[in-house]
Amino acid sequence: MNDLTICVLAYADDIALIADTPQNLQKLISLMHTWCNKWRFIINPSKSNIVHFRNPPKAQTGFKFTLGNTGVDLKVVESYKYLGVVLDQYLTFNNATQILGNAAGRALGGMINKYKSMREMGYSTYSKLFYAMVTPVMDYGSAVWGTKSFDNLDSVFNRAQRFFTGVHKFCPIDGFSGDMGWVSNRVRWKLDVLRLWNRLLGTDKNRLVYKVFRWDITCHNNDNKSNFAANVKQIMCEIKMKNAYKDLTIVNIENAQKSLMEKLESEWQSSVQKKVKLELYSAIKCNYGVEKYLLLNMDKYEKSLLSQLRYGILPIRIESGRFTNEKREERLCTLCDTNTVESVEHFLFECEAYDAQRLTFVSNAQCVIDDWENLTQTECLKSLFNVMPRALGRYVKDIFLYRRDKIYK
Ligand SMILES: [Zn+2]
Repeated sequence: MNDLTICVLAYADDIALIADTPQNLQKLISLMHTWCNKWRFIINPSKSNIVHFRNPPKAQTGFKFTLGNTGVDLKVVESYKYLGVVLDQYLTFNNATQILGNAAGRALGGMINKYKSMREMGYSTYSKLFYAMVTPVMDYGSAVWGTKSFDNLDSVFNRAQRFFTGVHKFCPIDGFSGDMGWVSNRVRWKLDVLRLWNRLLGTDKNRLVYKVFRWDITCHNNDNKSNFAANVKQIMCEIKMKNAYKDLTIVNIENAQKSLMEKLESEWQSSVQKKVKLELYSAIKCNYGVEKYLLLNMDKYEKSLLSQLRYGILPIRIESGRFTNEKREERLCTLCDTNTVESVEHFLFECEAYDAQRLTFVSNAQCVIDDWENLTQTECLKSLFNVMPRALGRYVKDIFLYRRDKIYK
């Protein structure tokens, strides 16, 4: 690195030796072995491995590494866990995030058990637990690897949201994520990268980590290397703070989070509009942020029904007809003789099978919601979610169970 040769990194009881050729690495190992003999240290060969870092087409080294003159071989492996992060031979970090994903999945399992033993848990408690128990596991080292996307970590993130909203795994992600309003993985990881940038700027200039930091920036500026500096620059461009990269200044994390969330919101909005199942949802939901019905300590089943209704997956004919390959116009309501498609609107506001239940519900709504008579059905539904989500939940449960009894008995 410039005029500096770094061949050993020592941290607490950990030693990493670095060399540009296998022969040089063997020299370092022998040197270390001699030192260890002198001070009566014994190296554990099963915990000591060699990783050959390189770009994909290049073959792994065939060099035999030995521990001094003991005849003990050191294995060449594909990856090695260093300070808690798994470094693989191509530095893809796929291995690292696979392991983090498994650990985060277990942490989420533990959290869900807590939820079940408490029987009920509010949105803020659930969110707090998630950010305290699961994301610290999932985000470990994300400042280093966090500019890529990793499906296995997203699946843990989505599972946590699905569990709380009470929907199955084929539910459109944009639906529940918009209603939960959590800070997405991608945004959290980008913020972690910026936090590391800030921390490095404040590091003592004589420290190795600072020298590496500056060298990394030079590498990107001179040779356009896709490294940490490149990632930082890209994030700063995204949030229109490019000058912070050029001038080496600290980034205001709060403002960065605001910009990243605004960007997330606009991407979410355009994605929602493209999904057929979310047609109703896009008409009643405007902003990416926690939805009122999720903030109430509602009956779990009612909450789940409301979620399914919003995300277009409530199993009434319009949705269940999808699985039997019926055309949209064939998915007729079987509870009345009006030959109407059993859509959410028909189910909630029109079908005469539920007239009795609807009578009390609508007369309550008329008292609470202004101008009820002149609203469209979509506007009514939007107001119901805003003004009386609890009563809506009870009504939907009533008519949905009534429907089930009618059809299956
Ligand atoms: Zn009907």
